[in-house]
Amino acid sequence: MKLIDTHSHIHFSKDFPDFEEVLIRAKEAGVYKQVLVGCDVEDSFEAFKVAKNFDDLFWTFGIHPHSSDQGNEKIYEMLSEILADKNEDFEKLPVAIGEIGLDYFRNLQSKETQIEAFIKQLNIAKEFDLPVILHIRDAFEDTFKILEKEKNSKVLLHCFSGGIKEADWAWNRGFMVSFSGIVTYKKNLELQECAKIAPKDLFVVETDCPYLAPQKFRGQRNEPAFVAEIAKLIAELRNISAEELAILTTSNAERYFKI
Ligand SMILES: [Zn+2]
Ligand SMILES: [Zn+2]
Repeated sequence: MKLIDTHSHIHFSKDFPDFEEVLIRAKEAGVYKQVLVGCDVEDSFEAFKVAKNFDDLFWTFGIHPHSSDQGNEKIYEMLSEILADKNEDFEKLPVAIGEIGLDYFRNLQSKETQIEAFIKQLNIAKEFDLPVILHIRDAFEDTFKILEKEKNSKVLLHCFSGGIKEADWAWNRGFMVSFSGIVTYKKNLELQECAKIAPKDLFVVETDCPYLAPQKFRGQRNEPAFVAEIAKLIAELRNISAEELAILTTSNAERYFKI
């Protein structure tokens, strides 16, 4: 079985002192590629430093809504230079812009600051024809308004936590929805329904490790190997084999990220 963890933070060195073993367990579970997602400027560069040493690890650059006060012209210029392949320090380029978006649950930054960094990064992604990875929490309405206006066509809603209405909105626009461990939590019936009815070319799986371990490992640190649990549950919901589910989600991820 070949799975892709489309949202991993194994470059968080504090959370993964056992990085080598984590990689081995991921391989054993069939996870043959991972996308290491950056959360702020420094963290994105950490993702790069780890990913550059492995053919099967990819990285993204993003300023998360929690860090959106980091966004400034200098940073965006530097990012554009990297993406234009004009910075020799970056021999491996990001495969997406993310995670970016809006988080009105924790509201660590003002709405204005979050929206500004979000729109700026959506525009950079458009300029370089890159997909985006969106983090949306309690902010679907504003996010959808911004997306209607900015018209990015390559959009992925990471760690999807909305309902059927939000999922349909995304699918109708050809956007990708990514299911994480929260789909395995028993009470999340509507989310499970989303995973059941997702158009076969418009969904992927992720761990968001070290956060959000699936039900079986709830309370523990999450790690890429556990994406197999998420795939297993979604396969059951859709009444197909885990192997078939893996083929679907892996080809979707490869197409989306061009990896
Ligand atoms: Zn997130
Ligand atoms: Zn994340």
